Amino acid sequence: MLTDNHGRKINYLRLAVTDRCNLRCSYCMPEEGINWLDRKELMSYEEMLVTCSLLVKMGIEKIRITGGEPFVRKDMMPFLEQLSQLQGLKELTLTTNGVLTAPLIPELKRLGIRSINLSLDTLDRNRFFAISFRDEFDAVLETIDTALQHGIELKTNTVVMDGKNTMDIIPMVNLTKDLPISVRFIEEMPFNGGEAHYKHWEWNHVKILNTIKEAYPGIEKIQDAAYSTAYNYHIPGHKGNVGIIAAYTRSFCGTCNRLRITPEGILKTCLYDNGVLNMKQLMRDGLSAEEIEQQLLNKIKSRAANGHEAERNRLNNPVHESMSTIGG
Ligand code: SAM
Ligand code: SF4
Repeated sequence: MLTDNHGRKINYLRLAVTDRCNLRCSYCMPEEGINWLDRKELMSYEEMLVTCSLLVKMGIEKIRITGGEPFVRKDMMPFLEQLSQLQGLKELTLTTNGVLTAPLIPELKRLGIRSINLSLDTLDRNRFFAISFRDEFDAVLETIDTALQHGIELKTNTVVMDGKNTMDIIPMVNLTKDLPISVRFIEEMPFNGGEAHYKHWEWNHVKILNTIKEAYPGIEKIQDAAYSTAYNYHIPGHKGNVGIIAAYTRSFCGTCNRLRITPEGILKTCLYDNGVLNMKQLMRDGLSAEEIEQQLLNKIKSRAANGHEAERNRLNNPVHESMSTIGG
């Protein structure tokens, strides 16, 4: 079993396969996009496979593919097929914006992908455009329908933005009445590829919950799954659940079981750190698997205790990078 210097089990890898995206969600990147990485700066599929295979041998049991938008990278499906065959990997899953995903659902199901996380910040077509600068609302809804038809478990992610989609909180919660999905609300974090600090921020997990409680006073807390980053709730009589992720408040760090690897191949042992090891460079420098494993272990054994400590360690580089360069 892989554990860090704080005794936390490490068994989950989030692998961001590209920084590119076909949406421009305003909480994630500026409308004009960011300085996209050159292809040679990205980890190749082969490098990603070597990395995953090493980490699975070390104790990683679950891999989530994310980005950017995973499906804008060419040849993603053959890569997923290879990953799905990794000995020892118990769960392969992904986070997608749903724009290109619907036609791929049958093949994802065949590869053994049982659940998908899908970004959905509003149920209103105009607000979808205002938030993401792209007219792709229908494609996203089709992904939801297709995934449910194929029995794929769905969790939606809504980033709660003051003045932009708080009026969507209750309509999103209402989805759980008839649909067996987990509707999750995420505190907005300053990973937006632009201004580093908020002048004003009020939609924390408490305010989100209180807003839901006003409409649904009978909402009940349910048991959170091990390592869950969400506080989970259920409204009696509804088919789905509601989750709230205190991503900016950072109240879940005590059980954090995850590593992240960016599209450039940088290992992050905390979402809020500045990157702690360049895996791609180690491979391109020709280090052996044993040498890379040792360097990985050193970093896992010197993890920050929590996101606040990791952020403090960044010194003069405050959090401001686009989430599409990290993967969420
Ligand atoms: N493109 C895919 C998607 O949107 O689902 C995967 C990548 S996206 C960076 C992963 C997750 O990060 C999404 O659920 C998105 O809502 C979340 N995210 C992006 N920027 C964020 C921010 N500034 N604060 C909180 N969550 C953010
Ligand atoms: Fe793209 Fe996802 Fe970022 Fe939206 S949150 S811009 S879909 S990477």
